[in-house]
Amino acid sequence: MDKLTKEQRHRCMSAIKGKNTKPELMVRKFLFGRGFRYRLNHPRLPRHPNLVLRKYRTVIFVNGCFWHGHEGCWYYVLPKSNTDFWQKKIERNKTRDAEDRRKLSTLGWHCITVWECQLKPQVRQQTLESIAHALYRIFIQNHSRPYTSEEQHMQRVAEEPETYGRN
Ligand SMILES: [Zn+2]
Repeated sequence: MDKLTKEQRHRCMSAIKGKNTKPELMVRKFLFGRGFRYRLNHPRLPRHPNLVLRKYRTVIFVNGCFWHGHEGCWYYVLPKSNTDFWQKKIERNKTRDAEDRRKLSTLGWHCITVWECQLKPQVRQQTLESIAHALYRIFIQNHSRPYTSEEQHMQRVAEEPETYGRN
C-alpha cells in the first residue's frame, strides 16, 4: 500500500520524471554544440522519447536511475518504507521501457539510453563522447542498407510538423 499522500507522490514523481531535467539538458546542450539536431518528446513515437534525431533514426532516452530501475546502480536504492509498492512500480516501468524499445526497433529506430549516473561530473564527458560516437556509427550503418517502407513511413510521421492542439 502506498502511504505517500497524493501530493507527496506527485512531487516525488515529477522530480524524477519531469521533462527538461538537468541530465537531459546536459545531453541536449552537448549534442547541439556538436551540430546534432533533434526534436523533443516526440508525441507519436512509443513513450515520447526525450530526444529524436531523425537524420540518425535514433531516439535518446535520458533515464533517472531510480525511476527506471538501473540495475546495479548506486542511485537505484528502493526506499525502506513501501518497498513493495516501489519495487512493483519500477518493475512495471522497466517492462514498459523494454516493450517500447522493442517497438521502436521494429519501426526502424535505434535507441540510446543514457543513465543519470553516467552524467555525474567524473564520467560525463566520456558518456557524452560515446553518444556522439554511437550516432556516427549508426549513421554509417543506416546508409549501408535501404529503408523498408514502414521505416520510411515512420520517418515521414516524425518529420511532420506538430498539429496537436490546432484545428
Ligand atoms: Zn545509474
